[in-house]
Amino acid sequence: MSEILDAVRAGASAETLASLPIPPTTRAVFVRREDEHMFDGMASTDKDPRKSLHVGEVPLAELAPDEVYVAVMASSINFNTVWTSIFEPLSTFGFLDRLGKESIWGKRHAQDFHVVGSDAAGVILRTGSAVRNWKVGDVVTAHCNYVDDQDPSSHDDSMLGSNQRIWGFETNYGGLADISILKANQLMPKAAHLSWEEAAVNGLCNSTSYRMVVSPNGAPVTQGQKVLIWGASGGIGSYAVQYVLNAGGTPIGVVSSPEKAAMLRELGCEFVIDRKEKNYQFWSDEHTQNESEWRRLGKDIRGLVGDDVDIVFEHPGRSTMGASVFVTKRGGTIVTCAATSGYMIEYDNRHLWMKLKTIKGSHFANYRESWAANQAIVAGTVVPPLSAVFDLDHVGDAAFEVHHNRHEGKIGVLVLAESEGLGISDHELRAKVGEDRLTIFRRHA
Ligand code: NAP
Repeated sequence: MSEILDAVRAGASAETLASLPIPPTTRAVFVRREDEHMFDGMASTDKDPRKSLHVGEVPLAELAPDEVYVAVMASSINFNTVWTSIFEPLSTFGFLDRLGKESIWGKRHAQDFHVVGSDAAGVILRTGSAVRNWKVGDVVTAHCNYVDDQDPSSHDDSMLGSNQRIWGFETNYGGLADISILKANQLMPKAAHLSWEEAAVNGLCNSTSYRMVVSPNGAPVTQGQKVLIWGASGGIGSYAVQYVLNAGGTPIGVVSSPEKAAMLRELGCEFVIDRKEKNYQFWSDEHTQNESEWRRLGKDIRGLVGDDVDIVFEHPGRSTMGASVFVTKRGGTIVTCAATSGYMIEYDNRHLWMKLKTIKGSHFANYRESWAANQAIVAGTVVPPLSAVFDLDHVGDAAFEVHHNRHEGKIGVLVLAESEGLGISDHELRAKVGEDRLTIFRRHA
């Protein structure tokens, strides 16, 4: 591996990289099948990713014709790695076993270890025989939509594919490894003005938010619209804020501390609600919601922007959905991609049907959407909300931070990159975007 790393660092030619042998094992972050019941009976918050995420050598699988090996310079923590590490709502070994039954190539994924991670930035080391548009030595980033291109149902919008999966969550050999395996149709160019860790954090969250508030498949924002964004300084929220601003809309960002509020304002989000300070009590007990508290949120929004919101960017789920449906304008849309606080949702349907509102489900993004979202990163019109960087040996600590909502934006993970700030090749564009703008989340964290 050290030969490969030296070659990548030296910017070696494709011929040199292609001549280096691929090791039979790779250092990786994984959970173990034997551990899948280790947290049974515990409260979710007590389940500790530091106990279930291991860093060590695992065998590297053979490359399928449509795949590439990537030397991963940096990766990131997504909430799905938290879900995998606490075996909630399901153990991800079930996903791997199902994939294992699909084909001989699928069988490689059904192992007793699950290499996690759904983001990466790095360099292509090998291409499978069917790969056309990418070559050894290309500097890439990735999106995590893992699609079977021989499945007819994936040929309109690939997110509708019947066996669509998320790489590194529902597949093995994810991005938190020295060498990762990706399908060629996951690859995208790395932004030249960003470091490895800045480039690595975007794939999953940026693409998700793009589909939710830019793509016609979600609830595309138009000029003058107002959008309530829960968790606006979190992983997906911080991209949503930028897309709403870029579209000429007005984001109203919800956060839970004055520090996060200051960070959002620096990002350009003028209207911010601190939910902790407001102390909304949307639920008066486990079974009863409080319409007067929904009304209080609506009043606060009107107080800030003079109107109700056209769109709500939803993902906390059970704790906020009732309020989200209530505060959306007549004819507006609640676009949701998650349910962090619980997926058994309750809202007052009268507010939905009588005011002709729509709840729109959204999940990750297809290749076209991910590519467009990556282009915004490449052009510098969307900046990565990188707030902290961990090395691979401390990935459990990083996942713990995300699990307990002690982070902002995105946490990057150095994999083969030995320090921060490496991998930048377009200093002119970096200066144009501005160091200050690129480091908002790091400075406020
Ligand atoms: P994140 O970085 O942890 O940010 C989520 C933010 O939501 C937190 O920072 C927190 O902000 C806010 N929040 C958490 N619990 C809340 C509650 N009960 N009420 C109100 N706000 C709450 O996570 P993320 O990466 O943005 O992901 C958010 C969710 O989306 C996760 O469940 C993740 O699995 C899911 N997701 C789904 C997809 C998909 O394709 N379907 C893609 C990406 C993420 P404050 O404390 O500051 O308010």
